[in-house]
Amino acid sequence: MEFLDAAHGDCCLIRWPGHAMLIDGGPAGTWRRSLKRRLNDPDDPVRSFDVVIVTHTDDDHIAGILDLMQANADAHDDHRPLPYAIGELWFTFPTKPPAEATPNEQDAYGASLRQGNNLAELARKLRIRWRAADLVPGWTTDLHGLDVTVLAPPVEATERLATMWKWDAEPAGFTGSTRRPDYGPYNAASLALHLEYQGVSALISGDSRGSVITNGLLRAPHLTADDALTVNVLHVPHHGSGANSRPEFFERIRADTYVISTVATNRHGHPHPEVLGWIVGSRAKEESYRLVFTNPPAASVREQLTALQRGRCFQIVEREPGRASVIAYPSSLAASMLP
Ligand SMILES: [Zn+2]
Repeated sequence: MEFLDAAHGDCCLIRWPGHAMLIDGGPAGTWRRSLKRRLNDPDDPVRSFDVVIVTHTDDDHIAGILDLMQANADAHDDHRPLPYAIGELWFTFPTKPPAEATPNEQDAYGASLRQGNNLAELARKLRIRWRAADLVPGWTTDLHGLDVTVLAPPVEATERLATMWKWDAEPAGFTGSTRRPDYGPYNAASLALHLEYQGVSALISGDSRGSVITNGLLRAPHLTADDALTVNVLHVPHHGSGANSRPEFFERIRADTYVISTVATNRHGHPHPEVLGWIVGSRAKEESYRLVFTNPPAASVREQLTALQRGRCFQIVEREPGRASVIAYPSSLAASMLP
């Protein structure tokens, strides 16, 4: 499992023997800077995917996938062999902008819709199998030994893309933040997935909300009431935003690797300090686990992490300069668990 440098966005490459999945492609620039480079690494190229997934249409997730598809479309137009083989595209496609959006919001949603339309056009042109209707909580599939469960988006979020998503009351017990919750209709419609291969598990959150993901896990059921779930890799929701999770999310879902995909210069202040506090606060002092950063954290984040590390044994892992990706799994910690 590799998390690529996707600046303030997400881009994750997952491989299991003979197979590969690409989840999101990061914002504009990711393709040139890291994704194309990683896929064409002469020592370890990846040019065939069982599934390419776009969690939602926001630029920081879809742009790199548009570039990947465009590379195939250019080859198609020039009658050259396609550089990348794509078995299926998983993508829930919004049909119109939210009716209640303000003119400013209409602009932002309009940009996402254009990108969604572009992807749909490319998928049709390249005759890629496109899966959308199946992607509802509880749907599962076995991809050559990789068990995939869809946790989000809830059906009502996808249906309500045409209206404004209104923040529903959090279930009792979700407290601990005064931050305004994430109202974004596209984030609310983000895919979230539980993946498992031979006992190794990962939770890919997209920009979904913790409470929505927890509901998906309960429904699957990968989680029972009053229980906690341990996964090997937890991709922390929405780049570590405090608007998308609450302390209880991290109390209920634990990991030996927490991945925070963002960049120090992002304009939202991700990861939010309370989220790092919630993750560390959910774990006993003597537990060992890793916080993985796809880009070097900002100075203020580093300071907070140094303070949090006092008396605790968690590790901080950063992408090495010049490398396109940080490999979150397997690690020396877990190498023995993989074939
Ligand atoms: Zn995002």
